[in-house]
Amino acid sequence: ADGAGDQNLPQELPIEPSVSPQTVDSFENFGLDPRLLQAVAKEGLHKPTDVQTQAIPLALEGRDILAHAKTGSGKTLAFILPIIEKILQKKQSLQTTASVYALVLVPTKELAEQITRVFTTFTAYCTKHVRVLNLATKASDIVQRSLLAEHPDIVIATPARTCAHLPEASLDLSALSMLVVDEADLVLSFGHEKDVQTLVLALPDNVQSILMSATLRSEVDALKDLFCKDPIVLHLNETQ
Ligand code: ADP
Ligand code: MG
Repeated sequence: ADGAGDQNLPQELPIEPSVSPQTVDSFENFGLDPRLLQAVAKEGLHKPTDVQTQAIPLALEGRDILAHAKTGSGKTLAFILPIIEKILQKKQSLQTTASVYALVLVPTKELAEQITRVFTTFTAYCTKHVRVLNLATKASDIVQRSLLAEHPDIVIATPARTCAHLPEASLDLSALSMLVVDEADLVLSFGHEKDVQTLVLALPDNVQSILMSATLRSEVDALKDLFCKDPIVLHLNETQ
């Protein structure tokens, strides 16, 4: 009844793609808070990178993720945007959160500084609601303890710095929601094994873990088994 096409059976109907990561071609499609989108626009970012396209929706869903993507592919924002978004969501219903929401583990002080800068940039429009503390600094334990007492939402640290604050409970991880290990391949190879083991014991069972790595070294598998439950493994190196 629809006309000419009737006798050609529709064997080659165009396949309607189901919702796939490829349909997320702008930051708006992630459903992020306007204050985050404002920072994204201010930074002149127009389109998420592949690892951001894949990892951000999964991270927002609360999945554990192990993402392999090469250096320069945009892994930092792939975890920073979901962390800030989730903190903003949480604070809409609850004014104060007493304990650290997200911990970002890094192998070096330099990387900690770099990530802290990105957090600062992307919390520019919500500074009152999202507080970031870099513990991978030369500041004394006493100074760091007083900074921790101001209830940061996000802590960035090396495994050693994190463990230095565990015994006297100045760093309370009992209600931690998200754990990120950035440059996960390097975290163990920098000789942090013992601290990482200590740290795992201090984590709550239901923490969401996100591991970022540029390589497929065996260290990452070891960390995956330690931190993740049934993670989604993303391999992005081949497609770029
Ligand atoms: P990786 O951690 O994977 O090595 P980074 O997160 O450090 O990569 O990002 C590399 C560079 O790409 C940074 O300068 C960052 O500002 C830039 N960048 C990240 N995401 C985007 C994007 N969506 N559009 C344009 N530039 C981006
Ligand atoms: Mg990186």
